[in-house]
Amino acid sequence: MTARRDAQAFLHRFASASKFELHLHLEGAVPAATLVRLSSRSPKPIFPDVASVRARRRALGSPEAFFAFYRDICRQLNSPADYGLAARGLVARLARENVRWAEVYVSPAVVEKIGLDWFDVRDALESVFAEHEARGRGRVRVLLDFVRHWGPEGASRVLDLHAERPWPRVVGFGLGGDETAFAARDFAEVFRRGRKAGLFPVVHAGEWAGPESVADALLFLKPVRIAHGIRAVEDPALLNALARTGIVCDVCPTSNLRTGAVPRGSPHPLLRMLRSGVAVTLSTDDPGLFGTTLLGEFRRAAVWGATAAELSRCAVVARQAAARTRSYNAT
Ligand SMILES: [Zn+2]
Repeated sequence: MTARRDAQAFLHRFASASKFELHLHLEGAVPAATLVRLSSRSPKPIFPDVASVRARRRALGSPEAFFAFYRDICRQLNSPADYGLAARGLVARLARENVRWAEVYVSPAVVEKIGLDWFDVRDALESVFAEHEARGRGRVRVLLDFVRHWGPEGASRVLDLHAERPWPRVVGFGLGGDETAFAARDFAEVFRRGRKAGLFPVVHAGEWAGPESVADALLFLKPVRIAHGIRAVEDPALLNALARTGIVCDVCPTSNLRTGAVPRGSPHPLLRMLRSGVAVTLSTDDPGLFGTTLLGEFRRAAVWGATAAELSRCAVVARQAAARTRSYNAT
């Protein structure tokens, strides 16, 4: 009982505390009300009202449903101004939650797929993030997302765009998308190029694919952090290696349930990761899509039995990881 009370006391303090969030995607952060507003311009709106967004959330449960929802959100972004609106929704949520440092995945490849000019979109995003910072509401840094299922050529194109006109807000690059498409080793060369450009690598692994995807990412791509990494619990040696090396895993509990990464009825691997000594942060991943908050992720972990000390550790690891980003950026 005392442990539960301590966890509740932590959550109470954490609600208003400074927060650090390292794993969220711009498109997935579009709030439901913004989606409805964007969608209303179409003669046949996909999201005619907030109830329709909630219905899509309820229908989640598989990677297919998740990717279809994500694609439908991207379809609402038809101009740089739309991206600006999406960014406004994102920073409003960060401010509400007192997130002082956020690392946001932005995907130039998605922007080009939609048919927009990356530099125009980038300028629209920059003005929103700069205003957020100028008002003292917290800092936003960008991770350029390589979409795994579009292959190493797509990733290379993202680095070309960045080289053409570097965006100072970018601190790193990530590999997201469908984990089962393309092996980690296929991206080894483009990751070398990214590191040479002074950016640090983060890899989505061990989400839908098994522990070998985490092991391959570590071996071939040498990330400073793993996004998710939850399926590492299936390989005790790998779990120990993560704990020993201190590679941070940015875990998103609600996302893992809604995308079917954790099968219905199975316990989430979070507690096993924490109790094996793995450095874990908690994040929302796609807060608009899943209808979650950073505090909600901590609350969920507490419901699963995370102690006050474990919740506090997640918050401390996130703060330390943000500090590492700042120092990486400075070198
Ligand atoms: Zn993610």
